[in-house]
Amino acid sequence: METFKVKAYGTVAPDADLKQMEIQRRQVLADDVEIDILYCGVCHSDLHTARNDWGGTKYPAVPGHEIVGKVTAVGSKVTKFKVGDFAAIGCMVDCSCPNCKEEQYCTSGFTGTYNSADVHLGTQTYGGYSEKIVAKESFVLKVPANLDLAAVAPLLCAGITTWSPLRHWNVTKGSKVAVVGLGGLGHMAIKLAKGLGAEVTLFSRTPGKTKDALKLGADHVVISTDDEQMKAVANSFDFIIDTVPYVHDVNPYVTTLKTSSTLVLVGFLGELSPALNTVPLVLGRKAVAGSLIGGIEETQEMLDFCGKHNIVSDIELIEMHNINAAYERMLNSDVKYRFVVDMASFKS
Ligand code: NAP
Ligand code: ZN
Repeated sequence: METFKVKAYGTVAPDADLKQMEIQRRQVLADDVEIDILYCGVCHSDLHTARNDWGGTKYPAVPGHEIVGKVTAVGSKVTKFKVGDFAAIGCMVDCSCPNCKEEQYCTSGFTGTYNSADVHLGTQTYGGYSEKIVAKESFVLKVPANLDLAAVAPLLCAGITTWSPLRHWNVTKGSKVAVVGLGGLGHMAIKLAKGLGAEVTLFSRTPGKTKDALKLGADHVVISTDDEQMKAVANSFDFIIDTVPYVHDVNPYVTTLKTSSTLVLVGFLGELSPALNTVPLVLGRKAVAGSLIGGIEETQEMLDFCGKHNIVSDIELIEMHNINAAYERMLNSDVKYRFVVDMASFKS
């Protein structure tokens, strides 16, 4: 396998800072696209992986799965892209099943953009905190021409991860939707639910975010630590997306669902504590569910929808060497509302 070296930013241990390193990329195979990365969004999953919060991180770890760039080479069988096109890559770069429409649930397993087994190189896959990436054409997305490229990057994870459940649970004009947590995923959930015509409420622990939430499109804000405000929205929502990354009490949110409605967890992975009380679920035929990113076809659908409705992320552009400080700010919920790395800062 022919390879070439690129500069990357990654970490060698859970408690080490990210720093510059060198990784290998494969030369394009027949159905591959090579992309010069212009922007890469910073997802809380990058931090979870870098610090081995979920276990299973292989080091060195190079995070980044909100990638936008310019095509610099294509394999002989590639038809959708040519050199010079803008293109994007999200959370997956391969899947062994030829006919998946929901690759993220592929029973034979998908290849994550980082920290998965790279079947070509025998290492782990390395993500978008790097100069270039090479991926199978069928996992590369088209970018709507009218959107700001840097602000598109977060759509590739924060966008699709909230779009997929909104669509799966049929959120439409007039649906009453609530979003828990105003970070990267939360702010995209607000924008996309509004784009679909829903009436949107934000649940936040942080009163200081109210003004921003309304500016982002939320119709109402409920401070989740205020019991009176929580009581006032009992039995109100058709659908709730919970984006909180750490263990938290889900029960107060369940009481705000209408009968036969669903709360979907997209943030926290693990056992809930306090445990889920099944009484309101049984009495109200309510459901608590989970959802993982989204398939490639629905990612393209989401990007096209964003192009049509002029939806992008609200971003703070940072330089690559500031990533460690950005992680600390993310841990303090101090992100407005997605960091995006300007890769030009890294290459020059
Ligand atoms: P983020 O930007 O850090 O936002 C998370 C928000 O949750 C914070 O801004 C904060 O909002 C709230 N929050 C944080 N800690 C909390 C706590 N201890 N208790 C209650 N609320 C808390 O993170 P993100 O990038 O949106 O990612 C959110 C989670 O989704 C991460 O765990 C990430 O790994 C996961 N994720 C899952 C998928 C999937 O496929 N399911 C895909 C991508 C990411 P307020 O200040 O408003 O309360
Ligand atoms: Zn992500």
